[in-house]
Amino acid sequence: MCRPRADHRALAALALALAYAAGCTSSADTDDRAGMPRGDAADVPPEPARDGTAGAPDAPREAPADAAGDVAASDGELPDAARPGAGDRPRFRYAIAESHRAKMMVRPVFHVDRDPAEHPEAPALCTNYAGEPFPACYDGHTGSDFMLGGGFATMDAGSAPVVAAAGGVVEVAEDGHYDRCRGNVETLEVTCDGHEMRANFVRLRHANGWSSLYYHLKQGSVAVSVGQRVACGDVLGLVGSSGRSTLPHLHFQVESPDGEVVDPFARADDPAGSLFVEQAAADGRPGGACDARWANPPDDVSPR
Ligand SMILES: [Zn+2]
Repeated sequence: MCRPRADHRALAALALALAYAAGCTSSADTDDRAGMPRGDAADVPPEPARDGTAGAPDAPREAPADAAGDVAASDGELPDAARPGAGDRPRFRYAIAESHRAKMMVRPVFHVDRDPAEHPEAPALCTNYAGEPFPACYDGHTGSDFMLGGGFATMDAGSAPVVAAAGGVVEVAEDGHYDRCRGNVETLEVTCDGHEMRANFVRLRHANGWSSLYYHLKQGSVAVSVGQRVACGDVLGLVGSSGRSTLPHLHFQVESPDGEVVDPFARADDPAGSLFVEQAAADGRPGGACDARWANPPDDVSPR
């Protein structure tokens, strides 16, 4: 089908307006668009905890519902037998509190761009895990974007708690940055109203060298600090729009022990398999259950 040029421009604008938060990532960053360089992220002290009246992540720890495990909602440690084996790949849950799941948009979810080719002038050129093009992904995107339904109004009304997708140790917990960055469909630019374009985010280190990252958190919402050990389902902060973000959303990114971005979603024929306990729950998004082996923080890591 012939696609007029104007349509392509509109498509590109939409891509940028909705989710051109590609720069929100870490290891894949080759420029300063992200506003969140990796090395100095921990230099910024976390902001004081919010006052609890507006969007405090007060949801109790998500009770793991994995039938394979009986993880208590408290800090009870699992026996060693329940730990991941050497070389095991992580198993994640959906990184939004189940109590607020309905606040998140079912679609679109912007996935990792699995097409290795770069298309700097055409953000619509991409292929996600299911072979789908934009808007299922966009060029160079290194995470999975889960959008907050209702945008800033929902964010202001309490937003949604972002939770640890597996047990881990906090390597980076950055807070204090402006959280109302947004896309301008006229200029295709992201504006932070003159504030520095830096994201509030958390980086967790899991067993076997794996990491997960949670970007664009609401200012003042980061509820963990560097070195803290968190269990799967523990609240990390609230969905926001800090950094190179066009709308309130969570950018969830997974990195391998080698620091390579790994798409947690897998096709049915993907031999490596999904990194989610349940890749597609009834609503099509990952399930909220923790894997018992990955529910607790590992013993063998410390913040770098
Ligand atoms: Zn993203």
